[in-house]
Amino acid sequence: MNSIAERLTEVRSSISAACLQCQRDSNEVTLIAVSKTKPSAAIAAAVAAGQRHFGENYVQEALQKIQHFANHDDLVWHFIGPIQSNKTRDIAEHFNWVHSVDRSKIAQRLNQQRPAQLHPLNVLIQVNIDDEDSKAGVAPEQVAALAAEIMQLPNLVLRGLMAIPRPQPDRAAQTQSLAAMQRLFLRLQAQYSQLDTLSMGMSDDLDVAIGHGATMVRIGTAIFGRRDSNEPNRSSE
Ligand SMILES: *Cc1c(COP(=O)(O)O)cnc(C)c1O
Repeated sequence: MNSIAERLTEVRSSISAACLQCQRDSNEVTLIAVSKTKPSAAIAAAVAAGQRHFGENYVQEALQKIQHFANHDDLVWHFIGPIQSNKTRDIAEHFNWVHSVDRSKIAQRLNQQRPAQLHPLNVLIQVNIDDEDSKAGVAPEQVAALAAEIMQLPNLVLRGLMAIPRPQPDRAAQTQSLAAMQRLFLRLQAQYSQLDTLSMGMSDDLDVAIGHGATMVRIGTAIFGRRDSNEPNRSSE
């Protein structure tokens, strides 16, 4: 088994290769190391190997880790999981980014609860690009309305869109969803020129996502190894 540092190097070289293939600068793509369910020691190993952006899905677990690394003020914490409204205060107070905003009520609460002394919270609208019942996210045709609303909220900065496409067996099928996200993003960016972030791309579709304009990719297992099957779910949190 390779170390976390070695696996990070491999993931970074896959990102560079994908960028080279589509003639993008690899500085345009930020790697988010998804550390959900993994201990602080694993995060520390990644930090020692130069990783700075971490993604977490479960609020209580994340708060402990953020606390643990409180004196590393260059770490950037991304909340990427489904958001229950009773968790918005903890998210607003402790994270730098939220990728999974998918309804007005959540945006309003994050805005109200973001502490005044912190920078505005960076947010992405999660899009349910493959229209899956099981997935969070707004329908593509609802993105514009939610974006317009978030633009009015002073303690949030809308940065772009996020998606978790349905796992697909082949590249052609992956391409459809990722290309649809890119079109949606470009259309929104034409309206709000400050948008600069498209969060999509996981282990299996990394290169296709980068080929379609992803600026943040989210990788867990390929860096930290497999997660236990007893992952907490929303109700048990
Ligand atoms: C868990 C998770 C990932 C990373 O998944 P891996 O299969 O471990 O690479 C990426 N994005 C989101 C939203 C996740 O919940």
